[in-house]
Amino acid sequence: MITLALSKGRIFDETLPLLKAAGIEVLDDPEKTRKLILATNQPDVRVVLVRATDVPTYVQYGGADLGITGKDTLLEHGSDGLYQPLDLQIAKCRISVAVREGFDYAAAVRQGSRLTVATKYVAIARDFFATKGVHVDLIKLYGSMELAPLTGLADAIVDLVSTGNTLKANHLVEVEHIMDISSRLVVNQAALKLKQEPIRRIIDAFASVVEPK
Ligand code: AMP
Repeated sequence: MITLALSKGRIFDETLPLLKAAGIEVLDDPEKTRKLILATNQPDVRVVLVRATDVPTYVQYGGADLGITGKDTLLEHGSDGLYQPLDLQIAKCRISVAVREGFDYAAAVRQGSRLTVATKYVAIARDFFATKGVHVDLIKLYGSMELAPLTGLADAIVDLVSTGNTLKANHLVEVEHIMDISSRLVVNQAALKLKQEPIRRIIDAFASVVEPK
């Protein structure tokens, strides 16, 4: 049995064409079922639905042989012991710093002000501001980061941005582009050795449909 860990939403939806290339069709719609283990048309392949931030953990400890997860999650939660053969070029977005309209971020940085930054990406934010030499107090949040500058909780946020519509709707502006993000295939190292043939087949099929960078 090959077990693939996916999170619901963007990653699941954008993985379906990759699975199709490997001849794999998921038999349930995760938005319509409460099942957490989904069968596929291949009796020896199943999909487990986990939180995006849990995908590396499932794959690292062998709860799943393979998984698909964002570079943001891998950087923030670690990727110890994971083989990362492919950038799948899906669920593309960027990690950015955003502030309230009218907040003079450039002046604050220039003056060496201490900024309060709210984010769920504490490790990525800490690295970024340390490299830039900006002093920050980081506040860890688990959601709705956009609210932090609007309520006075923070001067800035570090969050994923795709179209920019969420920032715009909340009167926030992007002031730094930290890095581009896309989703990666991650593989359990032991599974790669023990189930080499079926796992290689899936990696090769995925590779055949990934657009060259
Ligand atoms: P947008 O309004 O298109 O800029 O999307 C921003 C919102 O969607 C933010 O709340 C982000 O956290 C979330 N988001 C954007 N891209 C992704 C992605 N690839 N994976 C997960 N969440 C994302």
